[in-house]
Amino acid sequence: MADIIKLLPDHVANQIAAGEVVQRPASVVKELLENAIDAGSTSIKLIVKDSGKALIQVVDNGVGMSETDARLSFERHATSKISTAQDLFNLNTKGFRGEALASIAAIAHVDMQTRTENNEVGTHIKIEGSKIVAQEAVATPKGTSIAVKNLFFNIPARRNFLKSNQVELRHITDEFHRVALVHPDIEFHFYNNGSEIFNLPRAKHRQRIVHVFGSRMDERLVPVTEETEVVKVTGFICKPEFAKKSRGEQFFFANNRFIKSPYLHHAVVSAFEGLIKSDMYPGYFLFLDVDPSSIDINIHPTKTEVKFDDENTMYAILRSTIKHSLGQFNVAPVLDFEH
Ligand code: ADP
Ligand code: MG
Repeated sequence: MADIIKLLPDHVANQIAAGEVVQRPASVVKELLENAIDAGSTSIKLIVKDSGKALIQVVDNGVGMSETDARLSFERHATSKISTAQDLFNLNTKGFRGEALASIAAIAHVDMQTRTENNEVGTHIKIEGSKIVAQEAVATPKGTSIAVKNLFFNIPARRNFLKSNQVELRHITDEFHRVALVHPDIEFHFYNNGSEIFNLPRAKHRQRIVHVFGSRMDERLVPVTEETEVVKVTGFICKPEFAKKSRGEQFFFANNRFIKSPYLHHAVVSAFEGLIKSDMYPGYFLFLDVDPSSIDINIHPTKTEVKFDDENTMYAILRSTIKHSLGQFNVAPVLDFEH
């Protein structure tokens, strides 16, 4: 029998990878915001139309890209962030897989303008379904603007699967919250259909939470701090009387990255035992800092699942730290405290 195995062409491989990286407009928002942060931006604008179905655009004032890098950034496994597998154990960036832009460009129309500080002229590049259709010099501010249109234009099944504008906007807002909460030192603007939904000035952690969720949040927050060999914990829990029936305002960040951890969530909830009803959920915003070599974030392309070396110790520390904060809050009024 003749040989039948062949290597898939790049655009097909990209489209397959895109299936994992890009589930909905919110996935694009997450990847573009993370790239803007990795580029060292101090101000980031997110513009969407029709909840991302018509347009997702991120404008940043970060380092920008050269003409060649602008082209390369859409290649698969093209990244400026790591060069060896060892680098994976010492990551300071959100990205490292080098597949977000390649994936997005495989299933959408992308229009990027970018300029570095050292280049007087920027570059404008247009890509449709992995194909560069235009690249030209352009006058543009330092930084990068990426506009993604016609998402899933070549995967009708995915496009049809998108939910209502209201649901898709909620997913986008969730991703926006996750990024904005952990980067209070960056200014964010978020527009949907021309109206500004969020305008977040640079702030401290506590103020940022209040800016995101409204001034009602201010009286609810109790600070948490603990530093051990294994983990440094900072952030806030919400007072027990503000516990809610629904999940929502519950955030874990590990080394500046939003993570999901049912196990650590349980540690927090168990610290509230006896203070809230069992069908209620406490709010929390907890920032965990661990040695980068003791955490594996390369478990899934979206990187929200992570693995800690010493999860049991983390659980115990978290639980006792929160109990301690709750105890302090019960015996004495909490003083205004900012990180
Ligand atoms: P990763 O973030 O994993 O490296 P991406 O596909 O998201 O992969 O981006 C590829 C590369 O393109 C990045 O490593 C970076 O060098 C460059 N890049 C992407 N977005 C930006 C941006 N907003 N500003 C500057 N460089 C960017
Ligand atoms: Mg990236």
